[in-house]
Amino acid sequence: MKKIQMVDLKGQYDDIKDVVNPSIQEVIENTAFINGPKVHEFQKNLEQYLNVKHVIPCANGTDALQIAMMGLGLKPGDEVITADFTFAATVEVIALLNLTPVLVDVNEDDFNINIEAIRKAITPRTKAIVPVHLFGQCANMEAIMDIAKAHNLYVIEDNAQAIGASYTYKDGTKVKAGTIGHVGATSFFPSKNLGCYGDGGAIFTNDDDLAHTIRGIVNHGMYERYHHDVVGVNSRLDSIQAAVLDAKLPHLDQYNKARQIAASKYDDVLKSVEGIITPVRTKRCDKACDNCDCHVFHQYTLRVKGVDRDTLVKHLNEKGIPCGVYYPIPLHKQKAYADTRYNEADFKVTNQLVKEVISLPMHTELDDDQIEFITTTITSYING
Ligand SMILES: *Cc1c(COP(=O)(O)O)cnc(C)c1O
Repeated sequence: MKKIQMVDLKGQYDDIKDVVNPSIQEVIENTAFINGPKVHEFQKNLEQYLNVKHVIPCANGTDALQIAMMGLGLKPGDEVITADFTFAATVEVIALLNLTPVLVDVNEDDFNINIEAIRKAITPRTKAIVPVHLFGQCANMEAIMDIAKAHNLYVIEDNAQAIGASYTYKDGTKVKAGTIGHVGATSFFPSKNLGCYGDGGAIFTNDDDLAHTIRGIVNHGMYERYHHDVVGVNSRLDSIQAAVLDAKLPHLDQYNKARQIAASKYDDVLKSVEGIITPVRTKRCDKACDNCDCHVFHQYTLRVKGVDRDTLVKHLNEKGIPCGVYYPIPLHKQKAYADTRYNEADFKVTNQLVKEVISLPMHTELDDDQIEFITTTITSYING
């Protein structure tokens, strides 16, 4: 059996190196390192894939979120509601822009932001909601867009973990994750579902004016060369990274499929194990969903009940199985984001999830032997 890795980037590279290598070489030969033709080609191809009017590439996913908020003109003191259970980048940029982060609880089943908690957190100062499509599955966007409409709020989707996932409306209409809110942000960090070979990110929107504003912000607030109309940043996707991404984009659906297949194989064994709760796929429509792509499994995350999570992690590690705990501390308990206004009773679910979650190896190269070894190791540990 091949050594089990949390993420196997080498195996994936070996498969596509005949396409990726010449593409990188081409950028080097023509020396168009910044804003070269590869960046434009990738942008166009991603717009088409997502069926969104504008993709604005940038330097990383954290920048993408920050720039989206800058583009919407959010001002110091504006309150931005987001999930307590996510990677810190989401709340970091809110704080960095001197906006006021308002963290709220998530759902126990799909780990995504809780709709009632959003409703409860709205004040006259609330200006935006940032749902995070955690672990590869969309938050309840239909409900979130309804709340946003009723209260005149912006919705910024943190789509760093769900690129390529579909969101299905109640009536069966499907759209791509990240294209539902006013603006979406994603990351091309190497381990993400569409990862480059360094840092990268992008912003999506269907709004022409917002796209124009954002294109200036990523480039020092310039709309005309050496005319700086707004305070911007320097955040660009390298041409070399665009070359990698453009070579990988045609494989994204197949990569996500490989993750879904691995997830089903994990499910088949683990769903009947006492003390283990396998990840939920939220079904939002009434249509038959045999070939559902609503969850793209950036992470395959179990919850354990009545089993000590940390001892299980240690046991798996000893058997050569890496696993992750995403996330071990709720954001409202992090020193940087603690706030006396928060009330512990409002974070029942996150406080519980941080003790229960365990993410198993998940990538496009997992094979049957590895999955069998992982599931057998877990099962025999739990059954003693
Ligand atoms: C990875 C990630 C980010 C940040 O992306 P970077 O490219 O690493 O800056 C933001 N939000 C979430 C939920 C992420 O998983």
